[in-house]
Amino acid sequence: MLKMTGLTKVYRTEVVETHALRHFDLHVRDGEFVAVTGPSGSGKTTFLTIAGLLESATGGSYQLDGVEVGQLDDSARSRIRNQKIGFIFQAFNLIPDLNVFDNVDVPLRYRGMKAAERRQRVQQALARVGLGARERHYPAELSGGQQQRVAIARALAGSPRLLLADEPTGNLDSHMARSVMALLEDLHREGATIVMVTHDPQLAARAQRNVHVVDGQVVDTEEASGLAAPALPTPVDATLQP
Ligand code: ADP
Ligand code: MG
Repeated sequence: MLKMTGLTKVYRTEVVETHALRHFDLHVRDGEFVAVTGPSGSGKTTFLTIAGLLESATGGSYQLDGVEVGQLDDSARSRIRNQKIGFIFQAFNLIPDLNVFDNVDVPLRYRGMKAAERRQRVQQALARVGLGARERHYPAELSGGQQQRVAIARALAGSPRLLLADEPTGNLDSHMARSVMALLEDLHREGATIVMVTHDPQLAARAQRNVHVVDGQVVDTEEASGLAAPALPTPVDATLQP
């Protein structure tokens, strides 16, 4: 699904040059659930933004579904991003001026989807994260956990094949973090490929594979025990209620 070979990323300002990725190699197969760990500043977010086609690499190769995507122009990249990729960020990235419904609706609008289909998808996604009754609320009126669930609903409304999550539980208490993880596991069982950056070893252990990044490079990749003995499916609506 995702194959990076010798990827480099250099951020340049007038005074400094930061080598955020140096010869980054990673192959994520279709349907895998991979957890990415590593110290702060090691390049994890840089990797995810390139994987999600939000930024391009400075050098190396990035193939998504067998297509070299590094060289595509902006419009081709946004088209692929819209069709295939969902994002969940630590800082939720909700639009404060839009209510919950409209926040989840935005990426579907970009796809040019008809209003009726969008409404159905938005409502299903919100029901799935236990926020069916909050459509008309604004982000500021929700708790952190609720905001993160809106961000997850926004990612899953588009049925992405590749879900990229950057410390999705970083701002949540441990109970809410486990609920979010259970939801990601459900999506994985339904076929999504998931790449999740996390600093929480317990969550990382629940992924199929752990990839450790240090200083812009993958230094270690190992099978985790996690999904060998999957947790019993949790009814998401029940666990996600505050
Ligand atoms: P992590 O997510 O693992 O904490 P990042 O990918 O955010 O690490 O950052 C990797 C390195 O690249 C850091 O040294 C960071 O300061 C630098 N960096 C990240 N984004 C930018 C940017 N937009 N401009 C300049 N430097 C950046
Ligand atoms: Mg980061």
